[in-house]
Amino acid sequence: MNTMIIDNIETMHNIVENINIGVTILDEQNRVLFWNSFMARHSGIPSSDLVGKNIFETFSYLPMQWMELKLRSVRLIKNYSFVSWTQKPYLFRFSHSSMMKGESIEFMHQNCTFIPIKNPATGEIYVCITIQDMTDVVISHMKLKEINDINKTLELMTNHDNLTSLYNRVYVEKQIDFEFNKAKRYGNIFSVIFFDIDRFKDVNDTHGHLAGDEVLKNLAEKIKSQLRSSDIMGRYGGEEFILLLPETNLENASSLSQRLRISIEKMVTSYHDIKIMVTISLGVVQFRPDIKNYLQMIHEADIALYHSKKNGRNAVTQYKLTGCRLMNCSLPG
Ligand code: GH3
Ligand code: MG
Ligand code: MG
Repeated sequence: MNTMIIDNIETMHNIVENINIGVTILDEQNRVLFWNSFMARHSGIPSSDLVGKNIFETFSYLPMQWMELKLRSVRLIKNYSFVSWTQKPYLFRFSHSSMMKGESIEFMHQNCTFIPIKNPATGEIYVCITIQDMTDVVISHMKLKEINDINKTLELMTNHDNLTSLYNRVYVEKQIDFEFNKAKRYGNIFSVIFFDIDRFKDVNDTHGHLAGDEVLKNLAEKIKSQLRSSDIMGRYGGEEFILLLPETNLENASSLSQRLRISIEKMVTSYHDIKIMVTISLGVVQFRPDIKNYLQMIHEADIALYHSKKNGRNAVTQYKLTGCRLMNCSLPG
C-alpha cells in the first residue's frame, strides 16, 4: 500500500511541487529540465519560460566557474555534494520572507545539495539541485552573536574602570574576598598593596583635569606592565589603586612595592607640550589568619598607606601587628 503511493508518479510530482524546498534538474549541457514551484515563486520565472534553457544564460550572476566544477565532479564521482550557507551564503539571488525583522540580509541564505541522477534510457547523468531557505537560521545566529557581544560589553562595563581599563573596585573586592576565603581555608599566602598618587590635586590644579586623566592612564599601564599575569590590579577610587598578589608574602610584596614606587618616580607623562611627574605612596599587608575579613585587610593596607603619607610620601609601609614599618627608600637586596 505504502509503496504504491510512493511509486505513483503523480503523487511524487505533487510532493516536489508543494515542498518548501527548491528543486531543479539540469542536463549535461546545464539546460533546465525541471524547475519546481518553489524556484518559480522565488525567481519570478515560471517553469514554462525556463525549461530547455541554459541556467547560466538566464541567471548570469550564478558563479559559473564554481558551479560547473561542482556539477562536473558530481557527475564524475556519482555522489551527492552538499554546500552549506556557511561556505557559500547563496546560489540564487532570491529575496527572503523571513518573519524576523530588522535584519540587513539582502538575499535568502541557502543550503544546497547537488544530486546526480542517471537517465536509464540514455545513460546521461543529470544533476538535481535542491535549495533550502536557511535565512531564519542565519538571523538567529546573528542575533545570538549580537547578544553575546552585548553580554561581553556589559561584563566589561561591570568589571572595569572606563578611564584606565583596569578592574574596578567592586570586581577587585570580590577577588580579594575570594582569595581571602581560600587563604582562611587552605592557608595560602597572599598580599594586598594599596597606593595613592601624592598631591594629585596639585596636578589637576596646575595642568587641568585632562592632564590628570592622562597621568592616571599612564600610571595604570606602567604598573600593570610590571605585574604577573596572576596579579590583579584595580582602580579603587579617584587616584587610589589596589593590587591583589596571590602566592606572595609580605617581603616579596614590599620589594615589588619599592620597584613600583621607583618606576613611577621616574615616569614622565607628556600632555601636549608639558611633562608631568608624580610619586605614589603605598601600603602593604599580608594575609594573617587573625584578620576577620577582606575589608579588614584592605583597611590595614590603607593604614599603612596613610603611614607612608605621614612620613613624607613617595614611600612604602608594611602593616604589621607590631605596628607600621616604613621601609627605606632604596631597593632592598
Ligand atoms: P595626597 O598626597 O594626600 O593623596 O594628596 P592628593 O592631592 O592626591 O589628595 P586628595 O584626596 O586631596 O586629592 C585627590 C585628587 O584626585 C582630587 C581629585 O580631583 C583627583 N581625582 C580623582 N579622580 C580623578 C580623575 O578621574 N581624574 C583626575 N584628573 N583627577 C582625579
Ligand atoms: Mg592622593
Ligand atoms: Mg586619595
